[in-house]
Amino acid sequence: MESKLRVEVLDFTDNALALIYAACRQCYSAGFAGDIAVESSKDPQKQADFVRQVAAAGHESPLEHVKCTFAIGGVSRALTHQLVRHRLASYSQQSQRYVKASPFEYIVPPSIDTDADMRAMYIETMDRIQDSYDRLTQAFADKGIKGERANQDARYVLPQAAASSIVVTMNCRELIHFFGERCCSRAQWEIRNVADKMLEQCRQRLPAVFEGAGPKCLNLGFCPEGEKFTCGRMPAKQTMKHEC
Ligand SMILES: Cc1cc2nc3c(=O)[nH]c(=O)nc-3n(C[C@H](O)[C@H](O)[C@H](O)COP(=O)(O)OP(=O)(O)OC[C@H]3O[C@@H](n4cnc5c(N)ncnc54)[C@H](O)[C@@H]3O)c2cc1C
Repeated sequence: MESKLRVEVLDFTDNALALIYAACRQCYSAGFAGDIAVESSKDPQKQADFVRQVAAAGHESPLEHVKCTFAIGGVSRALTHQLVRHRLASYSQQSQRYVKASPFEYIVPPSIDTDADMRAMYIETMDRIQDSYDRLTQAFADKGIKGERANQDARYVLPQAAASSIVVTMNCRELIHFFGERCCSRAQWEIRNVADKMLEQCRQRLPAVFEGAGPKCLNLGFCPEGEKFTCGRMPAKQTMKHEC
């Protein structure tokens, strides 16, 4: 059964702008962040302007106080493997031990979905995998082995295409880094789709921080991926003339 992508915000730190503002100002103020927060709440525009400047200048530690939690579903295990490589984050992923994969949902890459022959071959493979999985869990059941003890070994035949759901929490600093890597055209289409949707929702909630976020070349002003891999949006690093 084919699966559909969902990316939803479960939680975003309340009063995010005021919090980042107070944290930034504490660095340069003889006052106390608690008082700064109360005083600044009268002027959200001032907060936004200040936070925008600070984020653009790369003063990133105040951004760590604000976090966002996303529910992500209808993504492949190939994607979640890439996602969880980002270490400064918290994850809770659907278990293939406790959740039986009958029927298992799967992702069809667009390059395969749009070619009738390849799509037919792909679906047939998924059907055969489902059949193998079901026969294995049945064989375990015949031996009196059920639940996670059967699922945990039967799952070895499942493909990377198998759909998964995952909850991820990142702070704003890590999110900006994540978008830098995963909104880049070098990232695979599936994680790029997810990253684009996450960025869209972050921009809506906290534009002062996220309006400049995106592929890392936007902030660098050049593409660090090399001439062979660059998408051409920015000049490749090697082609830039350095001036002192
Ligand atoms: C296009 C693309 C292709 C990739 N291809 C491959 C591949 O072929 N094989 C593969 O194995 N991986 C691959 N990766 C994954 C990549 O190597 C990283 O594992 C992934 O980007 C997450 O790590 P990160 O450094 O970006 O930072 P995160 O884990 O998100 O951490 C954020 C930042 O914190 C700092 N940090 C975190 N942990 C440490 C630490 N232990 N020590 C020092 N600093 C730390 C670093 O500054 C880091 O950039 C690929 C990633 C991308 C974007």
